[in-house]
Amino acid sequence: MAVEKLQFQAETKRLLDLVVNSIYTNKEIFLRELISNASDALDKLRIESLTNKELADDAEPEIFIVPNALTRTVTISDNGIGMTRDEVIANIGTIAKSGTKDFLDKLREASNASAQELIGQFGVGFYSAFIVAEKVELITRKAGENSAVKWTSDGTGEYELEDCEKESHGTTIVLHLKNEFFGGEGEYNFTDVYELERLIKKYSDFVRYPIKMNFEIPGKDEKPPTIEIRTVNSMKPLWTRSKSEITREEYDEFFKQQLHEWEPPQEIFHVKAEGTVEYTALLCIPKRAAHNLYYSDYEPGLQLYSRHVFIMDKCKDFLPDWLRFMKGLVDSPDLPLNISREVLQQSIEVKVIGKALEKNILKQLGKLLKDERERYEIFWHEYGKSLKIGVYNSVFDQKAKDALKDLLLFQTSRDGKFSTLAEYVERMPESQKQIYVAAGSDAAAIEQLPQMELLRERGLEVIYLTDPVDEFTLEALHEYAEKHFQSITREDFELDDAESQKVKAEVEEIAKTQGDLLKDVKDAIGDAVAEVRLTSRLKSGAVCLATGANSPSLTMEKTFAAMNNPMFKATQILELNPNHAVFKKLEALHADKDSPEFKSLCNTLYSLALLIEGVLPKDPADLANKVTELLAK
Ligand code: ADP
Repeated sequence: MAVEKLQFQAETKRLLDLVVNSIYTNKEIFLRELISNASDALDKLRIESLTNKELADDAEPEIFIVPNALTRTVTISDNGIGMTRDEVIANIGTIAKSGTKDFLDKLREASNASAQELIGQFGVGFYSAFIVAEKVELITRKAGENSAVKWTSDGTGEYELEDCEKESHGTTIVLHLKNEFFGGEGEYNFTDVYELERLIKKYSDFVRYPIKMNFEIPGKDEKPPTIEIRTVNSMKPLWTRSKSEITREEYDEFFKQQLHEWEPPQEIFHVKAEGTVEYTALLCIPKRAAHNLYYSDYEPGLQLYSRHVFIMDKCKDFLPDWLRFMKGLVDSPDLPLNISREVLQQSIEVKVIGKALEKNILKQLGKLLKDERERYEIFWHEYGKSLKIGVYNSVFDQKAKDALKDLLLFQTSRDGKFSTLAEYVERMPESQKQIYVAAGSDAAAIEQLPQMELLRERGLEVIYLTDPVDEFTLEALHEYAEKHFQSITREDFELDDAESQKVKAEVEEIAKTQGDLLKDVKDAIGDAVAEVRLTSRLKSGAVCLATGANSPSLTMEKTFAAMNNPMFKATQILELNPNHAVFKKLEALHADKDSPEFKSLCNTLYSLALLIEGVLPKDPADLANKVTELLAK
């Protein structure tokens, strides 16, 4: 039969190189990965055969593992769904995950320890076979088909495909071990049945299908040894045991096995309920957010079981989208075994369970925030964005919004640490009526805003909005503890203490006599700004930009532009400090308002105001020329 040689997709090849060279410890996890795939394939066959009776056969589902010291191989077989030739090419030769290139770039630059973490976030699955094998053969036959195909590769650049014979459906993977993994010379000996038994118990005990191996039983009284087939894993679903009997290690291993996680989860939720709907849920927050959590190809959802039998993966109907990072399973005897996705969507039981779970998760997060701040901040670092998205996705769900608003954290000008809104409000002086916020790309950029000077001087704290979603979130909240959010860069921002009011009145006086100047500055700049005015909120700064009270902010405008939605434009107001030397210069040049010098100064001031906000002016080269000219003077 013809052997066809195919190339790995370029990214697959790079990934393979990196994975093999980046996994320094825990090389044994390849076994867990391959057993997980086998278990998934058995699940898929069982589900398919519910609707396609032709697929049902008498064979008991099982996973069989055979180590062979002579051929230096480990063979892992399952009698699951198998793959067609096309599926092998699509699943094994290609990586169809978005963000793969970014991931590879990050991986290449990462240190050893963080490389392992990155790989964990990405999940390399089948490719982990190449950590221990110099050559991998995969022979597979799709259930319901007669032909089988053999895939062979040494994991370098290409793989071979050839038609072959296989007695029954399922997949067999033969790992030809690298030198250091057999014979006991290295740290591992994967041809030793007892070593494999230990690993299966450690990593795959909860797999719901029997994992079998041949054990040699020495013969008594000089009789030859006999072979006994034993099931190595206990198969008992962990979630059916009582919480108090389960150790943290058992939970950790369970999630790694069940959910293809590489690291123990950060938080675990084990909920049993016997109300109107009976269910058990075992959920976790993974330690690290999936690399594609916010990409469209990330598939959120929980696994669904009925009476401990797997029904469906990635069931999205339990939890709201902002909890997309939650992983785990729900097992309920009140859900029928052959429920379809469509029926599930309408199911009252699913709604009841989902609402209860959401409530439980919110409650536990609140408790974590209160009792274990450090751990909560680790969680926040990974998933804070999801909660913030949750706020503005819950516009019509006041209850969810109320629960979420107390879980939000923001950096503030006080000490750069994270604060809840409640903590901020608690520290507000009595005279302060609003919650001051400022948006920018990071804390340092906000600290440099000229408007910050005055607030710093008055000892007023400002909440930093450094994530593009922050402003949308606060917009959706509108207020907290009856205090409105007030951006310090918006036109309607003012301080109402006596000193500020006095300066304001002085500036208003000056403004009365400067109407012409302000109009001519506006004309010189053109339509880019809606208005030019004097300001009392600058101390040493000469200019700043404010945005209209009802317009999106400049940061929002940037976010919209990045989403290819340039419709949302901020209304820009150029504010000038009448007490700054440059203002005097402006006044002097205004004597000839048509002179190029006057126009040039107006536009340079506007460009500088944009730069302060982190926005590139239209003609940066022109600005650079003007500044260098000035420097040379
Ligand atoms: P993942 O399991 O995360 O999808 P893998 O690289 O481990 O990633 O596997 C890729 C795909 O190959 C799987 O999604 C599945 O479709 C297919 N596959 C892997 N192993 C098997 C198997 N033993 N039987 C059937 N299909 C398999």
